Amino acid sequence: MPVLPIQSSATTEECLHLGRLIVLTGPSGVGKGTLMRSLLQGHPELYYSVSVTTRSPRPGEIDGKNYYFISRSKFEQLLAEAEFLEWAEFAGNYYGTPREAVLNQINSGKLVVLEIELEGARQIRASFPSALSVFILPPSFDELEKRIRDRGQDSEEAIARRLLRAQEEIQAADEFDIQIVNDDLETALNDIETVLFK
Ligand code: ADP
Ligand code: 5GP
Repeated sequence: MPVLPIQSSATTEECLHLGRLIVLTGPSGVGKGTLMRSLLQGHPELYYSVSVTTRSPRPGEIDGKNYYFISRSKFEQLLAEAEFLEWAEFAGNYYGTPREAVLNQINSGKLVVLEIELEGARQIRASFPSALSVFILPPSFDELEKRIRDRGQDSEEAIARRLLRAQEEIQAADEFDIQIVNDDLETALNDIETVLFK
């Protein structure tokens, strides 16, 4: 998908001189959401991009906070209108990053974090070569499966799809600028903070 500047004559690359874009990727269940929550609590100055998805909300998820939950037809309409900075289909659902909100935040000098899967991360790498990409790895595949199961929010079919995709994603970890293993949560959080702030 082409990336076009919005609301100014600046290119997206020029925008990045004002702010910074961080891409956080890793297999489902590795702990990205958990790490993001802690990161945002400790660093309210960060801008977390709330994605759009066609997935149904999990118990406790709030529209506009965790995701913007929309229908497939609405997603396809937004896609046709080039409203996404990147997008992908993951485990049977569409996910996308709202273009305008993210570019505005970068333009105003914010440190912007996208928590997205592999295909989207590749699109961002192509359109924002200066973005910093971080891949979160599980300590082992067994532990990853355990975390997905213990989370207790996905059907057997969804778990199987996520584990299959996880294998592909983990194989691509080397494409990312930095790899962090989320074994001990505090250690992984410190590692991310070091990458972002030190
Ligand atoms: P993701 O957003 O990557 O899909 P979640 O943040 O939902 O993953 O985490 C999946 C499960 O793993 C959750 O139940 C979470 O509490 C647990 N978890 C996250 N990090 C760790 C960790 N370092 N050690 C043990 N469990 C973890
Ligand atoms: P979940 O359904 O577990 O919340 O998310 C599934 C996967 O979609 C995760 O790997 C998550 O990082 C990814 N994801 C969430 N939002 C986006 C997005 O806007 N774009 C892309 N490409 N992936 C996303």
